[in-house]
Amino acid sequence: MERTYVLALHGGAGTIARAPARDMRQAELPYHAGLRAALSAGQAVLARGGSALDAVVAAVCALEDNPLFNAGHGAVFDADARHTLDAGVMDGHTLAAGAVAGVRRTRNPVQAARELLRDGGSVLLGADGADRFAEARGLAMVDPGYFSTPQRLAQWRRLRMQAAGATALDHDAAALADDAVPLSPDAPRFGTVGAVALDRQGHLAAATSTGGMTNKAPGRIGDSPIVGAGVYANDASCAVSCTGSGEHFIRACLAHDIHARMRYLGQAVGAAAQGAMLQSLEPLGGRGGVVALGADGSLAMPFNSQGMYRAWVREGVPQATAVFE
Ligand code: ASP
Repeated sequence: MERTYVLALHGGAGTIARAPARDMRQAELPYHAGLRAALSAGQAVLARGGSALDAVVAAVCALEDNPLFNAGHGAVFDADARHTLDAGVMDGHTLAAGAVAGVRRTRNPVQAARELLRDGGSVLLGADGADRFAEARGLAMVDPGYFSTPQRLAQWRRLRMQAAGATALDHDAAALADDAVPLSPDAPRFGTVGAVALDRQGHLAAATSTGGMTNKAPGRIGDSPIVGAGVYANDASCAVSCTGSGEHFIRACLAHDIHARMRYLGQAVGAAAQGAMLQSLEPLGGRGGVVALGADGSLAMPFNSQGMYRAWVREGVPQATAVFE
């Protein structure tokens, strides 16, 4: 039986609302446009009967290419003023997964993760080995300077001036880049991208890609490429992509926690995603959000930060985007 497709994505969570209401809406427009463009890229795959896996990769690729989001071009800087990128993908039909961590030359880390999944051998490759794998697979390679933007450099410099050794979620760091805005003392910072999809064959997939946390320790790897933490898909339950304070998502096995609540407690995706956020992530002090798509097509997008860039589309229904509640 053919199903109707669903696609949802996020462009990170964090401290987003900072400007007066009218300016804020203006400032948000490019983000909504970027989310829609990425949604359209993934939707085109699903509309021609393509797989959920190809759709999430297409959507995440578009977000990696957009400098507004903290993945690929526009990734944040680490404490050495360099970029190291993480990405992971999972196919809910076969439970095959692929992920790369700490890549520095691969233009689209999510494509490298996809190639690794296709390969069927290693699940997670790191650093130079991952870049060499991507190169050998014929993926586009770039000079590391390709990932830099003046805005991210300003965020990084300002964070370093304000709090030596602090790390920041990207959208919180964006607030830091504005001199007129006072820094709230409890502001940690995020800004990853990710997508979940259900295709017409009824299969799920998830993908997540990030530059990590602003000013992160050199070599630090977050939750995004960790199967079961920042990315997970299983046709028996749901597809999940996370964004937020990665260490907490790893310790909570957050994406798999949502799957487990559905599988073993019989919860619907909404209750499972809320429960995982409230009972598993928050007690650890974690901040951020998830997009979670159930095998029945239900969608949940809870977050405990001020906002989360997100977008979704269901076959036959217009696209939607949102930043706040
Ligand atoms: N979760 C990502 C990480 O910890 C950051 C983010 O979502 O912005 O690397």
